[in-house]
Amino acid sequence: MLPGKDGPTGGGRSQDPSVSSEDPSVSLFREYLRIKTVHPEPDYEGALKFLDRIAAELGLPFKKVEVCPGRVVGIMTWEGTNPKLRSILLNSHTDVVPVFQEHWKYDAFGAFKDGEGNVYGRGTQDMKCVTIQYIEAIRRLKSEGRRFPRTVHLMFVPDEEVGGHKGMEMFVNLPEFQALNIGFALDEGLANPGDSFTVFYGERNPWWITVRCTGNPGHGSRFVENTAAEKLHKIINSFMDFREKEKTRLNTSECFTLGDVTTVNMTMVQGGVAYNVIPPNMDVSFDLRIPPTVSLKEFEEQIKAWCEAAGEGVTYQFAQKHMNQNLTSTEHTDPWWRAFSTACSDMNLALKKEIFPAATDSRFIRAVGLPAIGFSPMNRTPILLHDHNEFLNERVFLHGIEIYCSLVPALASVSALPSEAKEHA
Ligand SMILES: [Zn+2]
Repeated sequence: MLPGKDGPTGGGRSQDPSVSSEDPSVSLFREYLRIKTVHPEPDYEGALKFLDRIAAELGLPFKKVEVCPGRVVGIMTWEGTNPKLRSILLNSHTDVVPVFQEHWKYDAFGAFKDGEGNVYGRGTQDMKCVTIQYIEAIRRLKSEGRRFPRTVHLMFVPDEEVGGHKGMEMFVNLPEFQALNIGFALDEGLANPGDSFTVFYGERNPWWITVRCTGNPGHGSRFVENTAAEKLHKIINSFMDFREKEKTRLNTSECFTLGDVTTVNMTMVQGGVAYNVIPPNMDVSFDLRIPPTVSLKEFEEQIKAWCEAAGEGVTYQFAQKHMNQNLTSTEHTDPWWRAFSTACSDMNLALKKEIFPAATDSRFIRAVGLPAIGFSPMNRTPILLHDHNEFLNERVFLHGIEIYCSLVPALASVSALPSEAKEHA
């Protein structure tokens, strides 16, 4: 507090950011936001240099694994008092999506803070906030001299925003990942505009499919039978009718979120050579996102049936077909979930459990059989990831650090599971 200013009892006056001494955690957050880890040419080197400095400050070893040329996963490790136990992973990605600067009120990489304490910048929600919250929580816990049985790893991963293929997807199959001996992972979630906090225990599977319709070619002046376009028409109708049904299901059931229904979007159409030539084939592509509650086998049978019903010579091909439907337990009998949810209820945080509507690196973690919860502690915040004018209020940000200061000890103190007791008896 500066001399002459209101003391701590001065009330809810909003501080002038240029005069007040800013919380060092907020300053660090803003510094990180200014590193342009934005696609298509993310400054990963800049981010690693920044993290190197933090690891030195925290006194933690910082290991780097190059999973692909120019793609490095960084891991800071805080060893537990019983390092044989399975560890806790605090995961975050370092990259951010591109911006359309003309639609922003402020420089998207300037980390401007307005009079209300709203910090603007690409990555304020997705997910540089969480990275710094993990770091600041660990800094606080360490400075209080605390230790926990389980080892905690902070992992910093590239390329999540472009599918994770040169990041987490590769890394989970490397021996260096195995060596981390992970028992439970925290990864990103989404903001919640209300008072509660959203947690994600599963993700929908993205399928990208192209349906090829073949038929009789001919001259555009006649009624040629059995054309590619007639079949394309039927295919589009089948997919779009299904889309309509799912949309209705979402809109009429109060307990459904986007993660509970299958979204269908027609994203590409290709075919034809000239106005007066009936082409021998036409292609249509769809982006499908399928909730883990849907039988993928039955869903593909349905697609097959639609193709058969459209006529002969209709085939399909997948450009992407994720098949993993692992869900992370949110039963009270699960020790990880019990630790997580009890810590949250002790802080009076209301949780909303959901299936993540899009895809994150958590799907790779769950695919290798590990439990992962998607959680970005932002309530009373509009969901602005990938949007213009992405921002986060500093009070919400600082509260998130306190939340991790309770969550990390709870998770890192989960007593040996029956399987671990056997392993290390
Ligand atoms: Zn993200």
